[in-house]
Amino acid sequence: MQLSNRITGLTGGGSDGWDLFYKARRLKDSGQPIVELTIGDHDIGTEPVILSAMDASAQGGNTGYALVPGSDSLRATVATRIQTRTGVPTAAENILITPGGQSALFTAHSAICGEADRALYCDPYYATYPGTIRAVGAIPVPIQTSPEDDFQPNQADIESLANGAKSLLINSPNNPTGVVYSRKTMQGVARACINHDLWLVSDEVYDTQVWQGEHLSPRSLPGMLDRTLVVGSMSKSHAMTGSRCGWVAGPAEVIAHMINLATHTTYGVPGYIQDAAEFALKAGPELEEKVAAPFLRRRAIAASVIQAQNVVQMVPSGGAMYIMLDIRATGLSGEEFGFALLDKEQIAIMPGESFGKAAAGHIRVAMTVDDESFKDALTRIVNFAKELSQ
Ligand code: PMP
Repeated sequence: MQLSNRITGLTGGGSDGWDLFYKARRLKDSGQPIVELTIGDHDIGTEPVILSAMDASAQGGNTGYALVPGSDSLRATVATRIQTRTGVPTAAENILITPGGQSALFTAHSAICGEADRALYCDPYYATYPGTIRAVGAIPVPIQTSPEDDFQPNQADIESLANGAKSLLINSPNNPTGVVYSRKTMQGVARACINHDLWLVSDEVYDTQVWQGEHLSPRSLPGMLDRTLVVGSMSKSHAMTGSRCGWVAGPAEVIAHMINLATHTTYGVPGYIQDAAEFALKAGPELEEKVAAPFLRRRAIAASVIQAQNVVQMVPSGGAMYIMLDIRATGLSGEEFGFALLDKEQIAIMPGESFGKAAAGHIRVAMTVDDESFKDALTRIVNFAKELSQ
């Protein structure tokens, strides 16, 4: 039986660069003591108070079908949060609650891209981006950024590929680089979108993890309100990755169409998860700071280890739960380095190449083990790179 081109072509063919991750998982499952610094899952679980709220909601009977757009109160809570953080007037009708940021990315692109439309995104990128764009029938077009520009995209590069394109997807604070886009970068992004009549999808799932600089939501820039869809999530801010709760924020008439899509696809997010998310958001910034604090500490640990040598460089990053290390001085690709590191040191990282061409010769290190183990792992990574470069 024939399958659709859309599903068989989703990953774009060839290696997706995740072989190293799967190898590390297999080794770990077979009992080997692998230090996993791969994916963005917190080493802490969801806070017990959030779990209690989830339990109380479920025990209280909120286990039936939930409202597809999200409960009125969660939509209003998310709207208030966005308005407070960005100053942009936002109401419940501007919010669709989705099963995580991933579904929000798919929903946003479904709403704005038609069959064979070109959809831009910045390289390096969060691994699912091109596949998400293909999943709606559009054509993913990467915009290369470079380590020399601290991986910040510039207006000219965006505009050089923008003719006839429908949308641009950006992510700040960025996965995989940890880079926070500067005001200048965001203004260039906004100008490019306005000049070429592009929709902007702004993935802000790391907006509570900013260590340096400021998080600027481009929806707040002049001329951007009606052309920006913001993707948010409880996953990273509240260590609720497994709960699958996120949102899209955008113009009410776009959200109304997205609700139709949700009705015919996800049929919403479980009510007890929504209640837990609402509880967590209403608990205020202290909870978010508690979840984010370990990454700030570990980033400082990484900086001190990196500063003590000159073989491995750290990409000057301002946020998120990852650091990106430039290992080009070893002469190896990120992938070669990663496999050798796994074999020799039993440490698993993600090769930069898993996130596109722009991050070749780099590795992404997730700061997702306790401080002491993190320091030890990073010291071993650096020593390993030193040996290779001799
Ligand atoms: N965007 C980015 C940049 C991410 O890193 C992730 C998860 N790693 C997501 C979106 C999706 O997260 P979730 O679906 O758990 O909200």
